[in-house]
Amino acid sequence: MNFADLGLSDELLQAVETAGYSEPTPIQAQAIPPVLMMKDLIGIAQTGTGKTASFVLPMIDILAHGRRRALMPRSLILEPTRELAAQVAENFEKYGKNHDLKMALLIGGVQMGDQVKALQEGVDVLIATPGRLMDLFERGKILLTGCELLVIDEADRMLDMGFIPDIETICSKLPTNRQTLLFSATMPPVIKKLADRFLSNPKYIEVARPATTNTNIVQHKVAVTTRKKREVLRHLLRNDDVSTAIIFANRKTTVRELAKSLKRHGFTAGEIHGDMDQPARLAELQRFKDGSINILVASDVAARGLDVKGVSHVFNFDTPWHPDDYVHRIGRTGRGGASGRAFTFVAPEDAEAIDNVEKLTGGKIPVYQMPAEEAAPAPAREEKPRREKRERSPAREERAPVREDNAPIREERAPRRESRGDEQRRERRSEGNRSRRREQEPADDGWNGPIPEFLHVSALA
Ligand code: ADP
Ligand code: MG
Repeated sequence: MNFADLGLSDELLQAVETAGYSEPTPIQAQAIPPVLMMKDLIGIAQTGTGKTASFVLPMIDILAHGRRRALMPRSLILEPTRELAAQVAENFEKYGKNHDLKMALLIGGVQMGDQVKALQEGVDVLIATPGRLMDLFERGKILLTGCELLVIDEADRMLDMGFIPDIETICSKLPTNRQTLLFSATMPPVIKKLADRFLSNPKYIEVARPATTNTNIVQHKVAVTTRKKREVLRHLLRNDDVSTAIIFANRKTTVRELAKSLKRHGFTAGEIHGDMDQPARLAELQRFKDGSINILVASDVAARGLDVKGVSHVFNFDTPWHPDDYVHRIGRTGRGGASGRAFTFVAPEDAEAIDNVEKLTGGKIPVYQMPAEEAAPAPAREEKPRREKRERSPAREERAPVREDNAPIREERAPRRESRGDEQRRERRSEGNRSRRREQEPADDGWNGPIPEFLHVSALA
């Protein structure tokens, strides 16, 4: 199957060739023709299967005809996070370079002036996170009545982040005779209901991860004490053929300290977490993408959905508290057919978290055997500078850990704060969650989606 067989225009095929893609992924091959025929579509495929291009490419051809109008975007793409929104925008720039299309990006944390100005002049594509869009809509700065194409991307993440009510409101502001595309890795009942309500006679496409990809991520857990985590990490970074790695930690303080410590030990490391503003995050990500640094220490909030090519390793410095975060973290490697390795550190305090991960993934993650002398290396002098001593004694946050968004663990993930209005809405919502939660089984982490298929496959060696 070639891109040329899908009905895309020559200009677009040229741009695709320049981007270096030789053939469409299965979701692209199946989704592009019906989208070009203006059909509604539900596309279900795991992370990393190329869903973005499966709507960006046909959209460019669809939007090539028609005229922009002030304040009325012609199409709307909803993304759960600003990073994902920025990535979709990058895709439009890359593939749309032979077309005269105007785009605006409405996301939290960046200056809105230029984007609002672009909207006023008229855009073909508006890419937005639901919160920021609602905000602007309520202030009358935007009209959705001219929006004839809607994409709801990463629908299951939207659900996780509490955006479904916003999406319902947004859907009801669009003309009813529009084209709607919904993409998701999984199809929990709430998403099914959303689709039933807002899509009309959609074509349903579900793509299993190709068999080769199933074994693409070799997973290990590493038994380690809390105080040995850094040492073991450095050992693996030096000895496991690491070309690029993302290291996830549960707390932003850990992210900061770990990045500092790695730099002290001579690694070219950077960091990305929720305390950094958007330009700083994007700049750091860029350094990672262009190879100025090859190690990125990250928190879940900042790293969700990041698409970085060719990450050879993912390290879970802490086992994630929410098992679905495990799936997202390790999904940063083994992308686009490449192979990857994922190491999860399990200290005694991670015991419950790893149980939950294995419950979700439906199997035990193989234990990584450190060669004997490395498992308990004699502490070299440089391995315990004075700073580390302090870190080893139980810090306050280690006794009462909080998530990066400062909600206590076990609390529902607080949605990204995008604006004051948003914040207030969400606070009310999460209050509701809290009281509901008290009546619930505490062991339930809120995950009710299907188990990702590729996780059934145990690691090779
Ligand atoms: P998803 O949204 O399904 O998680 P993305 O759209 O982010 O996946 O794509 C994942 C990765 O695959 C990206 O790095 C993207 O550049 C790459 N990719 C997409 N389409 C192709 C293709 N046809 N051939 C090779 N790589 C591709
Ligand atoms: Mg995607």
